[in-house]
Amino acid sequence: MNRRCFIKDSVLGGIALSVLSKQSFAFTKEFSINELTGRADTNLFDKERQILFNEPLIKFKEMKKAAKNEAHIKLRLASRYRNFQRQKTIWNNKFRKFTQAGKTPREAVQEIITVSTIPGTSRHHWGTDIDLYQKVSNSPKLKLEKEHFQAGGAFYNAFRWLQENAHKFGFFLVYTDDEKRKGFDYEPWHYTYKPLSSLFFTQYVEKVQIDYLLRLYQAEGILGREVLTKKRMERYFAEHIRDINPKLYNQ
Ligand SMILES: [Zn+2]
Repeated sequence: MNRRCFIKDSVLGGIALSVLSKQSFAFTKEFSINELTGRADTNLFDKERQILFNEPLIKFKEMKKAAKNEAHIKLRLASRYRNFQRQKTIWNNKFRKFTQAGKTPREAVQEIITVSTIPGTSRHHWGTDIDLYQKVSNSPKLKLEKEHFQAGGAFYNAFRWLQENAHKFGFFLVYTDDEKRKGFDYEPWHYTYKPLSSLFFTQYVEKVQIDYLLRLYQAEGILGREVLTKKRMERYFAEHIRDINPKLYNQ
């Protein structure tokens, strides 16, 4: 896709974007609490999200094309935008499964948050983050497993290519392989489009209050909320939300 096309697609809907450099665009936008927590009104949302998600999608398509042309790698999306209700279903299902298997609510929550987010806190709510694998002939059924991205694994070629090239398109791993990092396990498939997600991140940590989320969990019937205390949530914010790839903090 040429440059003119990219600009045209990026300004659809009339939201002003300012050109910062050849590589990136800046959004001058304030996100609402609903947008930050995956609960934007669906009608408004479609219109807005097309714009918000458009830039990462365009850059993803460029990256996909480059991977194919340069290395014969066919990148595929396992997940992109996910709303609050979808995350609630994932969360509540896992909570039921773990507690029915004999775990206490505290243990169940602890187990879920090694790999899944508490609803309202997922970066997938922003439309800026994607889970990637590659098309291969003998594709494993469960794709998002660490071993597939390691040497000898089904998706290792894509992983290696992305390590070299993803940043050129604005994409970075979020949950890196760093034993000092707390929070979520290493996710070699989860990439974020930094030019946009850094804006979401800054506003998220500024605007989304733990008390607000706890009231929301009550109203929404989030299972395990009795052990999601303010103190537990503060630790979750420090370890799971903020303790991410340091490259995402630098401009
Ligand atoms: Zn992900």
